[in-house]
Amino acid sequence: MTTKRDYYEILGVDRNASTDEIKKAYRKLAVQYHPDKNPGDKEAEAKFKEIAEAYAILSDPQKRQQYDRFGHQGPGAQGFGGFDFGGFDIADALRQFMDQDFGFGDIFGGRTSSRRRSRQSGRRGSDIQIRLKLTLEEIATGVKKKIKVKKQVPCSECNGTGSAKYSRTVSCPVCHGSGEIRQVTQSLFGQLVNVTTCPRCRGEGQIIENPCHSCHGDGRIAGSKTIEVNIPAGVTTGNYIPIEGEGNAGLRGGPAGDLIVTIEELKHDIFERRGDDVIMVLPLSFPKAALGTQVEIPTLTGKAKLNIPPGTQSGKILRMRGKGIPRLHGAGIGDQLVQIQVYVPTKLSASEKRLLQELSESPNLEPKANGHPNIFQRFKESLNL
Ligand SMILES: [Zn+2]
Ligand SMILES: [Zn+2]
Repeated sequence: MTTKRDYYEILGVDRNASTDEIKKAYRKLAVQYHPDKNPGDKEAEAKFKEIAEAYAILSDPQKRQQYDRFGHQGPGAQGFGGFDFGGFDIADALRQFMDQDFGFGDIFGGRTSSRRRSRQSGRRGSDIQIRLKLTLEEIATGVKKKIKVKKQVPCSECNGTGSAKYSRTVSCPVCHGSGEIRQVTQSLFGQLVNVTTCPRCRGEGQIIENPCHSCHGDGRIAGSKTIEVNIPAGVTTGNYIPIEGEGNAGLRGGPAGDLIVTIEELKHDIFERRGDDVIMVLPLSFPKAALGTQVEIPTLTGKAKLNIPPGTQSGKILRMRGKGIPRLHGAGIGDQLVQIQVYVPTKLSASEKRLLQELSESPNLEPKANGHPNIFQRFKESLNL
């Protein structure tokens, strides 16, 4: 087991902190390190998980008491299993945060409380997390995506019940229906009772007399399903969409887990995203930059015309309003920023050379202080002119 930081230290509360103080500390930190606010930041993600784990223990009075007594190891000797959170992944951390009813929920709207209840069931199917790669064009408009998900689906042979036709459910012969195995041992301090989950019925107390041979009594089999996901415009890497009940099927008709779709933005050949704006570089010939022109350039939603005013300098940024990315669930839309880069040709024909030679003799084409106020001034200063 790896060394872990103290849970109280992680949440920045003292050991006598009330449940309310712990909840407040968790909420504050979880909001700060939430993957939605720190897209692609692995460090923040690790922090978020750490905070979630600390809260999972300290918010539960029984677990907290055990942690206070035994530390990270947990009272392993009594079959408690310790606090090994090897399986506490980002999906669990996100789910815990969503389940807190802080009024945030996920970015795509509310979730139902029935879901929290169903999570308690040991028969609930596990969640599936998938990454969905989207182009900037798809993000700009919003998109419907069909995803084929490999998952456990209800067994069609037994309708998910796990039992063969005419089979009965009977009380488990190992635990006699209690679902637990109790072992009582005598020690110096009196009786020690060790309670473990019955391995035969997995704690359910009942077994199927004649299990379905297609799913071996599980009620589910390996399969796949194509699921349509609606992605709103304006999402960004790290945003996720939980789709209730589209995870793995539950054990013998138990509730299904969820599908959690995490967005990943693909790199674009032309555009770079900066928040809601997109930026691109437009190479332009010197004559066109000097004379001004109209060009047709790409945007995320098709081609658009851009006016280049006469005398446009290299490095100048022209703004195309409303050609960027819509704000997620909000009003407004970003801009497209076009940075002009005056292009200098490297190969010239004899006649082009003649023309440029002629131009270069025109005093008007030499850089002037008012043409390049900053750059030219600085250049002169550096030479002590
Ligand atoms: Zn049993
Ligand atoms: Zn079956």
